[in-house]
Amino acid sequence: MIERSLVLLKPDAVQRGLMGKIICRFEDAGLKAVGVKMVWVKTEFAQKHYAAHLEKSFYPGLEKMITEGPVLALVLEGLHAVETVRKMVGPTEPKTAAPGTIRGDFAHHSYEYTDKKGIAIKNLIHASGNIAEAKEEIKLWFEDKELHTYETVHEKHVF
Ligand code: AMP
Repeated sequence: MIERSLVLLKPDAVQRGLMGKIICRFEDAGLKAVGVKMVWVKTEFAQKHYAAHLEKSFYPGLEKMITEGPVLALVLEGLHAVETVRKMVGPTEPKTAAPGTIRGDFAHHSYEYTDKKGIAIKNLIHASGNIAEAKEEIKLWFEDKELHTYETVHEKHVF
């Protein structure tokens, strides 16, 4: 049940100075950061990460957005981490994301607007969709030596 999830704080989150606030939410929930780094993604790497979206109409806008500044890449570990992180992040469209979720609290972009403008929806954060995807994405973004094993107080008081 202890899982790892890949989380990216995308350029809009970094440029809006939201890194600390977003990381704080995950730490408050007891999730453990086991890998953290800032990466300025190049086009070829964006195509690998978003391979599933390459043929989609919104891909050019998505590539432009993810390469426009550094992202903060995190590997978070915890019980049911993949599902827990997705729940905290909320659905893709910030307009429909409920208050209390990261996207619902810090953004309000809509598909209606981004479709008209031909840009990717700015939703601050990427989180692995399932356990298999998390394993693939962590392998793509992090080397083994960049992932750390240590104890947090949650292991004593929560688990
Ligand atoms: P996902 O792999 O689900 O994180 O989707 C990749 C990213 O593409 C999302 O986080 C959005 O930033 C963007 N995106 C997904 N669907 C759309 C869409 N219909 N229109 C614009 N951007 C989108």
